[in-house]
Amino acid sequence: MTFQRNLLVTGGAGFIGSHVVRLLVNKYPQYRIVNLDKLTYAGNLANLADIENAPNYTFVKADICDFEKMLETFRTYRIDGVIHLAAESHVDRSIKDPFTFARTNVMGTLSLLQAAKEFWNGDYQGKRFYHISTDEVYGALELTKPHGEPDGNECGGGPYGEEFFTETTKYDPHSPYSASKASSDHFVRAFHDTYGMPTLVTNCSNNYGPFQFPEKLIPLFINNIRHNKPLPVYGKGENVRDWLYVEDHARAIDLIFHEGKIAGTYNIGGFNEWKNIDLIKVVIKTVDRLLGRPEGTSEKLITYVTDRAGHDLRYAIDSSKLKNELGWEPTLQFEEGIEKTVRWYLDNQKWIDNVTSGQYQKYYSEMYENR
Ligand code: NAD
Repeated sequence: MTFQRNLLVTGGAGFIGSHVVRLLVNKYPQYRIVNLDKLTYAGNLANLADIENAPNYTFVKADICDFEKMLETFRTYRIDGVIHLAAESHVDRSIKDPFTFARTNVMGTLSLLQAAKEFWNGDYQGKRFYHISTDEVYGALELTKPHGEPDGNECGGGPYGEEFFTETTKYDPHSPYSASKASSDHFVRAFHDTYGMPTLVTNCSNNYGPFQFPEKLIPLFINNIRHNKPLPVYGKGENVRDWLYVEDHARAIDLIFHEGKIAGTYNIGGFNEWKNIDLIKVVIKTVDRLLGRPEGTSEKLITYVTDRAGHDLRYAIDSSKLKNELGWEPTLQFEEGIEKTVRWYLDNQKWIDNVTSGQYQKYYSEMYENR
């Protein structure tokens, strides 16, 4: 079968990657979608059970750091576009083990770039190398408004300050995770500037939704509330994050891959800022309601723990360039997104049990139970 395009999606068995793969496989039957993933603790092919037999879908188990394997993959499938999501993605893990983050996020990205460069061999007609990154590379913003005040633009919580990250904000990463992502962003841009590779970079805020590994705040808390386990809140829960429903991110990735300006950078965000403690209370309220518990029952589970080292106070993203240039906006109101998300985790306990067995149990007790 001949395909119109052959796209390589890395990290497609992870949280965001699985939503991107599903969208592309279903929307573009004329494209071959090659999902390449090492299947670390965060990668799970069960996330893609509904499309695994689609005729335009192929899975390759490989490590992006393995340059020879990357080159072979480009040659075998005649890859003409890359959407690169594979990464180590959890800040707490990066604090314990920064080497793994430098290896995968920096060296792995470089290995993919180098394989693309060798395979494309200067013929960049119709090619695209799109790298998915985070708003955490920009550092932290001040909290200058005590309460999130609606500004008419938001999809939920309003802004906690006047300043936002824009595409020209200077990089100032503070965690080993964000330092490794910043470094990979620089390599991608360097491959455009040095070799003329048609690259794109996007920096997105916190995603939430189904299939997120339950070490991340929202799924961790949904699961802990259900099982009456403590809810570990860093510091006083004052840190502010912008939240975006994962399918809105996947739609943005599709749009930018096809229509984004080469060498462009786009910020992607939800205009939806929440203090951690307020967000946690919304999650508690939703889980209690859906489990038929009286309102506020699970608030007693909130347990304040020592703040994360180097914890950035506020992230807030200005995604108006993406809105003005390409017409993208988040579609889901936060209340609706949280309701969908909580329902999904409550309905998919088996998925949670599968991904949290084995090694994760050890990590979980080291991180959250023995402190
Ligand atoms: P995730 O941890 O859920 O998934 C990462 C995937 O990459 C997993 O399937 C894993 O098996 C795979 N992987 C890890 N190391 C690999 C390697 N060496 N070779 C091949 N595959 C490997 O992460 P996510 O939350 O889906 O994030 C995806 C991307 O989006 C990352 O680049 C992350 O930095 C970025 N991002 C995430 C968020 C968020 O809120 N989750 C926000 C902005 C940007």
